[in-house]
Amino acid sequence: MYQEKIEAIKAAIAAADATTPDQLEAYRMEFISKKSVVGELFAAMGQIPNEEKRTYGQVVNSVKQLAEEKFQELIEKVSSSNKKSKSADIDLTLPPSNYPLGGIHPLTATRQRIIEIFERIGFNLSEGPEIEDDWHNFTALNFPENHPAREMQDTFFIEKNPDIALRTHTSSVQVRVMENQKPPIRTLSPGRVYRNEAISARAHCIFHQVEGLYVDENVGFADLKNTLYHFAKEMFGKETKVRFRPSFFPFTEPSAEIDISCLICGGKGCNVCKGSGWVEIGGSGMVDPNVLENCGIDSKKYTGFAFGMGIERIAMLKYQIKDLRLFTENDVRFLSQFRPLL
Ligand SMILES: [Zn+2]
Repeated sequence: MYQEKIEAIKAAIAAADATTPDQLEAYRMEFISKKSVVGELFAAMGQIPNEEKRTYGQVVNSVKQLAEEKFQELIEKVSSSNKKSKSADIDLTLPPSNYPLGGIHPLTATRQRIIEIFERIGFNLSEGPEIEDDWHNFTALNFPENHPAREMQDTFFIEKNPDIALRTHTSSVQVRVMENQKPPIRTLSPGRVYRNEAISARAHCIFHQVEGLYVDENVGFADLKNTLYHFAKEMFGKETKVRFRPSFFPFTEPSAEIDISCLICGGKGCNVCKGSGWVEIGGSGMVDPNVLENCGIDSKKYTGFAFGMGIERIAMLKYQIKDLRLFTENDVRFLSQFRPLL
């Protein structure tokens, strides 16, 4: 009778075990392969009387399924015990492998350094909104009604309200400070600004500025020069020279561009400074009396100076970066070079 034989095979499958690949192979030979006991049951089909063939077939198939399920179970058991024995091989006395550390973004590092330098000579920090109204971004700063900076090609306006725009400079923060504080005012306002410009190696629609403002009695142009001279030496090194060139800005009078001696050639002339020996770092001037009055400060009693610089510009000069786009591309090959700044 085949029933007894099948019960014995089922019991053997249930009792089978394997902890090594060899034992697994032995199980496969015994219960799965064509020559296994299960294989023999299929081979014996011919000797079963016709009327029993159907039932026999069903029973043998269920044994085959049982054998295969057990086989899968044993495969998992052997592979997991293999993993365990591998993890036991790990040498816990080895030093840990080095994981790469993140660094500080060069713009953040430059911004921090600029703040440090000015904080040490008494400037506090002020911030303002990036979405500004016309008054703080233009009108209070003495921009005439038809000034080109107000036009659509330079400024991102909010479509439904032409009075609201993304600030084009951080000078708007200076207006807010002067409206809310009484002199003496000595403040530094770093932040993100927006211009409607095509993105290239030298221009971007989003960049960072830092502006400084000093308003008090008897503030003169010599104070402005001394302050910026101090900054240039601290930021770029003791040998750095500073030069002022007459310029025009609506909110300062007189106005001057600030140049420093070229960091690459030291003033002899090279590609970076286009042979002049000087590179521009920003603009400055004495706060226009109209601006002081617009902000409720008595321009007969108080005078002030203001300056503004591009943080990208400073970082590019300091670290000799030639393409503005690198700052926003998040390329680890670029950023990892600034890790020593930690
Ligand atoms: Zn040069």
